Amino acid sequence: MDFDDTQAEAAFRAEVRAFLAANARPKAGTRPTSRAQHVDAAFIARAKDWQARKAAAGLAAITWPKAWGGREMPPMFQVIYNQEEEAYATPRGVFEIGLGMCIPTMMAYATPAQLERHVAPALRGEEIWCQLFSEPAGGSDVAGLRTRAERDGEDWVINGQKIWTSGAHFADFGIIVTRSDPNVPKHAGLTFFFLDMTSPGVEARPIRQISGASHFNEVFFTDVRIPDSQRLGAVGQGWKVSLTTLMNERLAVGEMPRPDVDDLLALCRLAELDGAPALANAAVRERIAEWHVRSQGLKFSRFRTMTALSRGQTPGPESSIAKLVNAAKLQDIASFGLDLLGPAGVVMDPALAPLHALFQEALLFSPGLRIAGGTDEILRNIIAERVLGLPGDIRVDKDKPFNQLPQGTR
Ligand SMILES: Cc1cc2nc3c(=O)[nH]c(=O)nc-3n(C[C@H](O)[C@H](O)[C@H](O)COP(=O)(O)OP(=O)(O)OC[C@H]3O[C@@H](n4cnc5c(N)ncnc54)[C@H](O)[C@@H]3O)c2cc1C
Repeated sequence: MDFDDTQAEAAFRAEVRAFLAANARPKAGTRPTSRAQHVDAAFIARAKDWQARKAAAGLAAITWPKAWGGREMPPMFQVIYNQEEEAYATPRGVFEIGLGMCIPTMMAYATPAQLERHVAPALRGEEIWCQLFSEPAGGSDVAGLRTRAERDGEDWVINGQKIWTSGAHFADFGIIVTRSDPNVPKHAGLTFFFLDMTSPGVEARPIRQISGASHFNEVFFTDVRIPDSQRLGAVGQGWKVSLTTLMNERLAVGEMPRPDVDDLLALCRLAELDGAPALANAAVRERIAEWHVRSQGLKFSRFRTMTALSRGQTPGPESSIAKLVNAAKLQDIASFGLDLLGPAGVVMDPALAPLHALFQEALLFSPGLRIAGGTDEILRNIIAERVLGLPGDIRVDKDKPFNQLPQGTR
């Protein structure tokens, strides 16, 4: 691949740079992200304002069809936008699930009238969406979920519980997969809907995380009525629809998270070890070299994905490799950095010590990154089966009716 911008890419990059320079604030050294912040009303208002500006400039959905406010540009142009925005402190984390997963699923299955109603407000940041898949008994094994959907006239009645639902406490709409038929094998008895999160019977209870913030929720459904017109895909085809969402999720993750090697170098110049900068220590340098090698491997794997995208191909399961390596590397670097800082590492206020805050935030967040969007073990299974062609994981429940599967006693 030629890594230089083409003429069209260079022109687009210049447009993005001009937009960002006029509308956003450059990061001051290290970035305070939404992960470290409490996503309160003020943060959401800023995120909505930023999203509206991006949409007005035609930069909110670069690859989407023009009919839905996009530009129909190849994914490479989205990568360019992301590269440029990385240098700015923009309020992120509120719209990614909606625009990255929920609306693309709607585009594949909703009616033209529903798309007319929902796509533009989501794009302009007026409405927030969440993804209601995981349950206490169905996380990695989403198809093992138990939230029931029963038909009642023109409606479906939903009862059950979801968990880990990012942003459910401030979302306006959600996509949900439910069990509509327990008498057939687990993948065959699922049905998919979208719903209004203010429907009677929906209760989102925020979960408090180790950082003190609450990004995800338990969501309870008690006799929640969803009109059949809000079903996405056929009855019993919910698994197929879910795969559309999950494919988009695997593509959405895989950015290079910070702190990376450059941040660690900066920290090692500041932190002292045995009376000298940590960078002078041979063991420290060896560790940095190791992570540099891994970062380079990730960078070039990413270029391979970008090459596939720029040729109009869909990247395969190898993008699981980037997510797997990135998340573990982030946790290792953050942990090493905090060890070097010693007691000073407890400072988490970005205003007081931005570099410390970056490392501490990463230490608290990185375990979640190794779980969200596919745990390490699940990604290894994907790589083993679909990249390396090794024998498949044992699936004893595959062909058994869901209601005949063994369940734990209460
Ligand atoms: C930050 C964050 C945000 C999230 N946001 C959302 C969201 O918005 N919407 C949503 O629906 N969900 C969300 N999730 C949930 C996430 O998708 C699940 O946590 C994840 O899929 C794992 O499921 P689980 O937690 O039930 O763990 P389990 O599936 O119970 O796994 C427990 C352990 O068993 C291992 N394991 C499971 N199956 C296998 C296997 N076959 N082979 C080997 N090992 C196995 C796992 O790797 C893990 O170590 C989020 C999670 C996080 C951390």
